Amino acid sequence: MASDSSDPDCTLSVCVLASGSKGNAIHIGDGRTHILVDAGLSGIEIQRRMAAANLDIEKLNAIVVSHEHSDHIRGVGVLARRYDLPVYMTRGTATAAAGQLGRIDKLHRFDIGHAFAVDELAIHPFSVSHDARDPAGFTVSRNGRKIGIATDLGIATGMVKQHLKACELLVLEANHDPLMLKNGPYPWPLKQRIQSRNGHLSNQDSRDLLGEIKHDGLCHVILAHLSETNNTPEKALQSIQEAVGGEDRFELHVACQERCSDLVVLR
Ligand SMILES: [Zn+2]
Ligand SMILES: [Zn+2]
Repeated sequence: MASDSSDPDCTLSVCVLASGSKGNAIHIGDGRTHILVDAGLSGIEIQRRMAAANLDIEKLNAIVVSHEHSDHIRGVGVLARRYDLPVYMTRGTATAAAGQLGRIDKLHRFDIGHAFAVDELAIHPFSVSHDARDPAGFTVSRNGRKIGIATDLGIATGMVKQHLKACELLVLEANHDPLMLKNGPYPWPLKQRIQSRNGHLSNQDSRDLLGEIKHDGLCHVILAHLSETNNTPEKALQSIQEAVGGEDRFELHVACQERCSDLVVLR
């Protein structure tokens, strides 16, 4: 059978199963290959959310892990063992996460800056500034179409912007409203950590980043990793809309913690 790498019907779809400090997981598929980027809910909860979104967990091909924080890896070990899945992560993440993952039979280590493939999906990990051992953001490409994922980063470096250019869909962190964080209940050291270069992007950081990287081919922006304490979906949307010009045609979505988002399909 001929390869369908130029198949014009090939569609990429994205469903954020959960997003926030209590757990993150993003399902990406092209109709044939299906991956999770992070699995930070319990295995059973990921099963439940995939079923709710009409996604067949038996069809998963791999789990790709961004970094070792528990809100990104909680379900990785269980799912990898239950569904015999390969797991991709950096060496640093594998070392830092070892105690939390349990046995992983098919562990694939990738290097930041070096693309790898899960079947037809090309995955390009790039460096992000975050307080983890060797954390990654990703682009996932298929047939010349590209999705960018950048959550858990304190600043958007030139490298991050470079990778996120020309994506049709972006999953972008909008973690906190700076005033809510400042006046909120978190202890001072935690507030400092969140605002630091190794913490999380605020709504305003995200707005500025989007203002720089948006382009005519951008169709969807999913705001992600919103703090339940220091942000609201309304505040995030309001800030981000400041980056949206009259001629921009992309759709804005907000991913949430308690349920999966709508399936977004790139046609
Ligand atoms: Zn996180
Ligand atoms: Zn993190």
